[in-house]
Amino acid sequence: MLNGKVAVITGAGRGIGRAIALQFAQYGSKVVVNYRNSLAQIEELLTSIQNSGGEAIAIQADVSREEEARKLIEEAVKHYGRVDVLVNNAGITKDNLLMRMSEADFDHVIDVNLKGTFFCMKHAATVMLKQKQGKIINISSVVGLTGNIGQTNYAASKAGVIGMTKSVARELAPRGITVNAVAPGFIETDMTDKLPDKYKEATVAAIPLKRYGIASEVAGAVSFLASEAANYITGQVLQVDGGLAM
Ligand code: NAP
Repeated sequence: MLNGKVAVITGAGRGIGRAIALQFAQYGSKVVVNYRNSLAQIEELLTSIQNSGGEAIAIQADVSREEEARKLIEEAVKHYGRVDVLVNNAGITKDNLLMRMSEADFDHVIDVNLKGTFFCMKHAATVMLKQKQGKIINISSVVGLTGNIGQTNYAASKAGVIGMTKSVARELAPRGITVNAVAPGFIETDMTDKLPDKYKEATVAAIPLKRYGIASEVAGAVSFLASEAANYITGQVLQVDGGLAM
């Protein structure tokens, strides 16, 4: 499905990013896995990919810093000669009610989720434009479509990702590059693990499929959008949310 494709996946040490990296490798992609702090997890991921006969390298970078995002793409190209797929998965939450949300917490979430995606797209697009080929998949969230109490910063960043996805999809379409977003609902990872049990029960009740999703179910949608089966799809937002925000 992704045979020989070179894919850069940000925030791949844990959660959804890790599941995407494992699935891409399983489908034959050479994966460049980015991490910020999770060194032990990324080493374990590399071993696991290599033990199953896959190819992967790890590159440390904080995607919220343009210089580091630029270096991430440069090192991927130095190693594998090209970048066919970019998955902007790195993301954080810093939840609080509007009146209690500090400017620092607002800025931090925007810097990682929105600007990090912008920086990586910008530098990967330079490579993809020369190749006249490429696929970018940005991980947004259903919260970017619906909003959510306590997530003014996060919802703004994820709605911004959707606006950027559509803008860049229009800009790059004439050069054969597609840009799409995946919007997960509630997925079992460290990010949702910290939610209070009462909140989890209430949210499960609101999900038509009556359960949280698992990371590999998001990876499935990303693999599809990265594959040639999705060649005629661009500027779209694919929700992977058990029907939550239909
Ligand atoms: P997670 O388990 O908390 O993992 C977050 C990942 O992002 C980690 O690998 C982390 O790397 C990386 N990261 C954070 N800041 C970074 C930075 N500045 N530079 C590079 N990497 C950075 O989260 P997750 O649930 O897998 O979420 C993955 C994506 O899906 C996020 O964009 C999130 O917003 C989105 N999403 C998740 C859900 C959900 O229910 N879980 C729902 C909707 C959307 P380190 O460990 O190295 O710091």
